[in-house]
Amino acid sequence: MGHPEEPHQVPAAQAAAAAGADAAQQRAEREARRPACANCGTRFTDERWKAIEPAGWDAPRETHPHLCEDCKQRAITAERQAEHTEQGHQEHDQALPELKNGGTWISRFRS
Ligand SMILES: [Zn+2]
Repeated sequence: MGHPEEPHQVPAAQAAAAAGADAAQQRAEREARRPACANCGTRFTDERWKAIEPAGWDAPRETHPHLCEDCKQRAITAERQAEHTEQGHQEHDQALPELKNGGTWISRFRS
């Protein structure tokens, strides 16, 4: 196919200096990009930040990337409660037309 790639020759001192400057700058840029919780404003921990970053196409997406761990748990609890309430309403709404259409007075007209 082609020639094997030749490794880059970089003087050790220059490489170390560049790496040090890069590391400091990267840390500053990283802190500037650190997300904060949309609910309580707490800056995410490294762990939490890592958790919300997409790990790959197959990885499940974080459900609450804008919230810290505490607020996420609270939001999930609240959503579950809301879901239960909504389902209860739906069941209730669905029961009403059934009562109207399935009423006995219609069948009385037909007989
Ligand atoms: Zn929070």
